[in-house]
Amino acid sequence: MICPDDPFWTPPDDKRLDEFLQLVQLIGPTLDQPMHFLVGERFLDHIAFMGCSPNINLIPDQDNGSFCFVHLQPATDQVEFHHGERTCAPRCPKCRSPINDWQERIVNWQNARLSEWTCARCQFRAAPWQFNWRRSAAFSRCSIIIRNIFPKEAIPQTQLLDALAAHFGIRWHYFYNN
Ligand SMILES: [Zn+2]
Repeated sequence: MICPDDPFWTPPDDKRLDEFLQLVQLIGPTLDQPMHFLVGERFLDHIAFMGCSPNINLIPDQDNGSFCFVHLQPATDQVEFHHGERTCAPRCPKCRSPINDWQERIVNWQNARLSEWTCARCQFRAAPWQFNWRRSAAFSRCSIIIRNIFPKEAIPQTQLLDALAAHFGIRWHYFYNN
């Protein structure tokens, strides 16, 4: 997934995320579901695949339903926590201690929207997204989600992150939620 650094940010009305990503050809034609897209002509210029034989299927195939596509979430109602089964304990940005009770804290954050966490070791206080999730989780209202790739196999290229930053005026980062 690729998200803006500011978890509250959403695209302005005159700069649609889908239009920009179609312009740079990360995404192509729409699929049946809203905001689901086939990969675009330049997808492989924007996303590098590691490994000697990347196991990706870029075109829908009757025999193999798990083809790679892009799902956009331009603006959810509130900040969402995105994570996967392999999400690791985030680390304090100051003393680097792991926050081992992060799952309980996330439930509290989702229920009460408490905006700050305190590190049990050094008492540093910061928003949950300021802790170091080591590319295994993120918080956002706006997301570019690439489906059906293996974790850590695909790396968004700097040129794509730079192009997003130049167009929208905000920095972007990526992480793996599977
Ligand atoms: Zn700490």
